[in-house]
Formats: sequence, structure tokens, C-alpha cells
Amino acid sequence: MTTPSRSRLPAHRPALILVLLLALVAAVTGCGKDGSPPVKGPQPEDLPVYQVATGFSLPDSPTWQRAKKRGRLVIGVKEDQPYLGEKDPASGRYSGFDIEIAKMMAASLGFRPDQIEFKTVASANRETALQNGQIDYYVGTYTINDNRKKQVGFAGPYYMAGQSLLVRRDEEDIKGPEDLAGKRVCSAAGSTPAQRLEREYPQADLVTYDTYSVCVDNLLTYQVDAVSTDDSILLGYAAKVPEELKVVGKPFSREPYGIGVPRGDNALRFALDDALAANEKNGNWKKAYDATLGLSGTPAPAPPAIDRYPAN
Ligand code: GLU
Repeated sequence: MTTPSRSRLPAHRPALILVLLLALVAAVTGCGKDGSPPVKGPQPEDLPVYQVATGFSLPDSPTWQRAKKRGRLVIGVKEDQPYLGEKDPASGRYSGFDIEIAKMMAASLGFRPDQIEFKTVASANRETALQNGQIDYYVGTYTINDNRKKQVGFAGPYYMAGQSLLVRRDEEDIKGPEDLAGKRVCSAAGSTPAQRLEREYPQADLVTYDTYSVCVDNLLTYQVDAVSTDDSILLGYAAKVPEELKVVGKPFSREPYGIGVPRGDNALRFALDDALAANEKNGNWKKAYDATLGLSGTPAPAPPAIDRYPAN
């Protein structure tokens, strides 16, 4: 038998059983008759229809030009974050607030919905995916910070989240980050919450995986004591199984969500800043929020001010 490493735990059978159980719960509570969409998910009629810009051109953006030649945009997203970026395993369709932001940006750049290809990219691989041209832009709970700005560009922010904690409903010891000493806390590799735990709460026993859904699975099977990441993500998981999970304490960081673009493509970055501003003004941003992230329980906040930092 191998000893579980600090950062990688072996797969456990109970975990699998629980996933199946949760799937069953979701099937029973979340879905209507055969083939009907989940009740809690965004209903197509609630979502805005984004006007596709005609005759739009961005000659100074190499990313836009490459996408135009290809005939479609490739957008990096998440696929396991409820109400933000979720992929329906049956249809392969993506939904959530980040997906809506991605679509509204595409429309402003002159691309129709059928010209969008979504690609799932985990937290730790975002910078590389943008640098290697595997994706044109990224929309997936991506915190803007100075460190990342050395590697990629950011339009936005379009939303302000904050680091928080998810625990089992019967947990009484953990009420905030100061209660984490000696506790096993799970987060995603390469994420700002994982970095903050390492830096500011070194007494916590940090466990990292590629995705938060694996962390949540580990929480439900008592292999970790808490999951830590943005409140927006954790509230979504809690809303899916409120009888099992709860978000505790107050957010203890500021996580401004940006749209990641290849570094140096300032033309694309500014075009996305303009598109965000226009969609906040015309009501699309709020309508998209209400139909997606709003379903996890927080009313639409005012979007944060866009930081149109100088060309670099
Ligand atoms: N917003 C944080 C980050 O960008 C956490 C969420 C995530 O991993 O996507 O690292």
C-alpha cells in the first residue's frame, strides 16, 4: 500500500458510491420527466439573447484574427462549478454565469453561438492554455492579480467573489479560517485560495486536486474537513445538497473575476472591456446573473468597476 501524499489521495470506493448517490438525489429532486432539463438550471427563456455584432473587425488583435480565420472561437471554461460553469454530461452543453459572460463577449466580437467551442481547462492550466493558443480567451472564476498579469491579460473584472469555507452540515468546530489548524482542507491546485491557505494559514493541512468537485466529494466522504475557495463556487455546491453542506463564516479575501486573454493582445482586452461595459448597461449582465448564479441564493450585486489598465 502506498502512503497518501499530501497533495494526492488515492481514489476511494465510498467516494464513488457517494457520487452515484448524489447523482440519484439530483435525478430525483432536480429533474422533471425524461429528458426535461434540471429544474434548478437556467431556463432558456430566462437567458438574454445576445445581439451578434455584424461587420465587426479587430485587425490589431492576433487572437481575434486567428479565430475569424478558423471560423469559431475556442473559449476556456470550467465544467464542474454549479451555476458558474457546468457541463451537462448527457448533452455536453455548458451553462452558468461564466458561460453567459463568455457568450455575450463572443456576440460582441461578431461570433454566433454555433461558432463557439467551449473547452474545459482546470485552474492550474489556464495560463499555459492562453500562452499556447489552445484557447482564445478564458471565463471561469479567474481571479485577476498582479502575479497572473505577468503571464496573461485580463479584461474586467465582471464579478467580485471572496474566499470562504464549505463544511459538512453537522460541522461545529470550523467557523472561519482561524479554526483550520490541524484540519484537512481541500482546494484546487494553482488557485489563489490554495496559495492563500499555504501562505496565511500554514497550520491547516492543505490537500489539492485539479477540481473542486473532487474536493467536495472528499468532504462528503469524511476524507477532508473543509473545502476552501470562492464563496460563489461554494454556495453553488451547498445549494445542490443543502441537507449535507453549508458555507460558514465571512469571505476572507477579494477575488475579482476577469476574462483571461493572451498577454499583449491589448486590442482584444479593450474590446472585451467595452463589451462588458455595454452589457452591464443594457441589462444583459443582470439578466444573465439572475438566471444562473443568482439561483444559488445571492441577489445580483452591482458589478465591480472595470479596470482598463494601460496597454502592456
Ligand atoms: N478565483 C480563484 C482563482 O482564480 C479560485 C477559483 C478557481 O480556482 O477558479 O484561483
